[in-house]
Amino acid sequence: MRVLVVEDEPDVRRAVSEYLREEGYAVDSANDGEDGRYKANAWDYDAILLDVMLPKIDGWALLAEIRKTKKTPVLMLTARDAVSDRVRGLDTGADDYLVKPFELSELAARLRALIRRSAGQPRPVIEIGDVMIELASKTVTQANEPVNLTAKEYSLLEFLAIHRGKLVTRTMIYEHLFDEDEDSLSNLTDVYVFNLRKKLGRDFIATRRGQGYMIHG
Ligand code: CA
Repeated sequence: MRVLVVEDEPDVRRAVSEYLREEGYAVDSANDGEDGRYKANAWDYDAILLDVMLPKIDGWALLAEIRKTKKTPVLMLTARDAVSDRVRGLDTGADDYLVKPFELSELAARLRALIRRSAGQPRPVIEIGDVMIELASKTVTQANEPVNLTAKEYSLLEFLAIHRGKLVTRTMIYEHLFDEDEDSLSNLTDVYVFNLRKKLGRDFIATRRGQGYMIHG
């Protein structure tokens, strides 16, 4: 899952980005509203974290612009716990908001819930055959035995599982699992798929030659 963090305070931006990377997200960041607008339009993010007080274009204006063209879930970061701010945020099309200062663990939990809901996946567990994927703890079992995956292997599995029954193209994988700082050579995707098949069974992931991959749900 790839997220955009729009935040002008360097310490907060860095802390949030690092935390989310450790949680397995691909993370892009923007330090003002203009850069945020550019990136929000350039990519289909799985979610956007948007600070309210931003230079150049503030969070409200940016949210309104994003909502003209995109349904991307947006979590607003607000400095004030004013009812009018919350009402305004939800009226403008924010999906959730957090009041600063916040705990990173709470931010991550809200983000997971937002992404799940927007993917039409309200339950925190996906079952495919004897494979169980727990989205909150990011753990996988097969026939009740734990399966050890690297962060990227897990991210790919989760992405394919959320889209189970549908073709996942290499472009989708490229856009959602790698961030702006990563060299996402497409042959690495083949390595992750190879490893997942080794761990979960040869037939768990089907290849559509020249198109992409698919998990049958
Ligand atoms: Ca700010």
